[in-house]
Amino acid sequence: MSLDTLLEEARTNEAKLARLQTMEFRFLDAASLESLCEAIVEDYRETFGLTVVTLFLFDWDGALSRFLQEAEIRERSGVHVVQAAQAEQLTTLCSDRPWLGEFEERLHRRHFPVSRHGLKSVALLPLSRRGKHIGLLAFGSDDVSRFDPELGTEFLQRLTAIVAICVENSLNFERLRQLGLRDPLTHLFNRRYFLERLLQAMNVAMRSEQPIGCIYTDLDFFKKINDTYGHPAGDVVLCETARRISRELRIGEVVARMGGEEFAVMLVGATLADAVVVAERIRDSMAEMPFNLPGNKRIRVALSGGVAAWQAELAPASMQAVDELLGRADRALLKAKQEGRNRIVADA
Ligand code: GH3
Ligand code: MG
Ligand code: MG
Repeated sequence: MSLDTLLEEARTNEAKLARLQTMEFRFLDAASLESLCEAIVEDYRETFGLTVVTLFLFDWDGALSRFLQEAEIRERSGVHVVQAAQAEQLTTLCSDRPWLGEFEERLHRRHFPVSRHGLKSVALLPLSRRGKHIGLLAFGSDDVSRFDPELGTEFLQRLTAIVAICVENSLNFERLRQLGLRDPLTHLFNRRYFLERLLQAMNVAMRSEQPIGCIYTDLDFFKKINDTYGHPAGDVVLCETARRISRELRIGEVVARMGGEEFAVMLVGATLADAVVVAERIRDSMAEMPFNLPGNKRIRVALSGGVAAWQAELAPASMQAVDELLGRADRALLKAKQEGRNRIVADA
């Protein structure tokens, strides 16, 4: 090898290393799992001039999908969360080292689920932590010689090692954050999260001039259930109530356990009348079927609910507006209790 070629190679490597470092810092800086995933997919594609980049996150025990829904990264372009069986299929070619070579529809269809147009060569890079695959990066290029099997893979391996660490950190961070936002018994959001989420929704709804409906519910004679069947039976009722309320809701509708046997629901875009309809549906879903308790006991459980709605024209988004909305729903709830329970009352 001539001196010129050696120098040339050193210069290219140096430039490569500099680009690599810039990217690494961006990954380390990413504030959330969402922005990390976005940075990985976008930066790789742009910096390396790739045609397609897919990032897979492996969900070996099903826990990841549940909590990623909250991180709101599912369905994002280029990021896919896959279950165990699919993770096995994706890594057959590259179970212990990166796989580089020509694109073949049969082999790589799964690695580029959205578009395979113009792909000529492919790199499959497993992301591993402590001997376990936590995900996979798939690079697709329209240049057939781009990912030659003979190519050295040190650069790619170093980068994927960094990516794996960043993804793992970010997942752990997200898990911790969510632990503080969830009620451990029902796994619903807690009061703190609900208030924050309501404020955020108000801020967004202000721009689109949408109302927000709010339902505040409380189980009827819950103390008696505890007293008669025991506290664990009461817990079963709380969990089943959480399930029944959640089943009545759609995307964008948030339910939280506000404490004890009280649950609140936030409905973006719902007027007072819309929210009353949902509240009645929730009340029906409680009343229509008895609850199964441990020891083959079946009991009827009812709830009362108060409904209020917020409009930006009347009260601009603020924590004060949040308190005021919940206060109105709570006062309507009190009225429902006074009027005999198992009913919904709308804020006058
Ligand atoms: P009302 O119809 O007026 O709402 O009557 P109630 O009996 O439901 O109201 P009260 O506020 O007196 O009872 C709430 C009970 O909820 C009291 C408390 O012991 C119980 N509770 C609070 N948190 C939990 C929990 O996590 N598990 C169980 N099993 N009970 C709980
Ligand atoms: Mg109560
Ligand atoms: Mg109660």
